[in-house]
Amino acid sequence: MHMRKLTEHIYCMDANAETDQPFVFYVHGEKRSLLVDTGNSPENYRKLLGELQECGLPEPDLIALTHWHWDHTFGVCAAECPVIASEATDSILKNVSAWKWDDDSMRQRLATGEDILFTYDCMKKQYPDTRAIVVKRPNITFSERMMIDLGGVVCYLEHRDSPHTRDAVMIYIPADEVLIGGDAHYEDYYDNDSKYNRKRLRSFMDYLNAIPFVHYLKGHDEPEISKTAMLELLESASEDPERTVG
Ligand SMILES: [Zn+2]
Repeated sequence: MHMRKLTEHIYCMDANAETDQPFVFYVHGEKRSLLVDTGNSPENYRKLLGELQECGLPEPDLIALTHWHWDHTFGVCAAECPVIASEATDSILKNVSAWKWDDDSMRQRLATGEDILFTYDCMKKQYPDTRAIVVKRPNITFSERMMIDLGGVVCYLEHRDSPHTRDAVMIYIPADEVLIGGDAHYEDYYDNDSKYNRKRLRSFMDYLNAIPFVHYLKGHDEPEISKTAMLELLESASEDPERTVG
């Protein structure tokens, strides 16, 4: 498998729904390249490095995390370059880095609601022995906004609330008219009974409306959706009483 080219400067590695491995995005500038998320494991991170090499693309100089969920961050321990995240993501990962990964501890977290069954099942498929999991925290954090100039491509990172998690980092790349949202537009699987909180959803739609992007890149299902289609999708969810609370 090769990296898929999505826009002039942006590529992605394919997702794997079976283990919840998301799409991992790679932004290639003239001077530097930025990887968005690491995938769910060192194994998938190394797969990504292999695919970059096959495509003649350099290894990433920087990594930015879209949110704390394991499928986006558990490859961090295999990365050699600096990893950037919001302070909110770091504070959650600090907590998660102290978790134990034997089966009893994992099951206990299901009982307390700290973790969810879907994640447990996918981790068991990804890791032959979950005790090998190492959760590493980012090296660089920011509270609200950060700008990264890759050379001919500028990335604007913004931490904000999202329907999916409170620690979402959205990455706007004007050169390609792209907004990378990761999982931000999905429901909150740890809260709200896996439904949308109407207020958080509305605020997120207002935020999307205000940014002049054309392509929205997301973590699962399909990597790209147009701004219009994304807003229609969220509009219909917000009007569906089966899918919203609050
Ligand atoms: Zn997520």
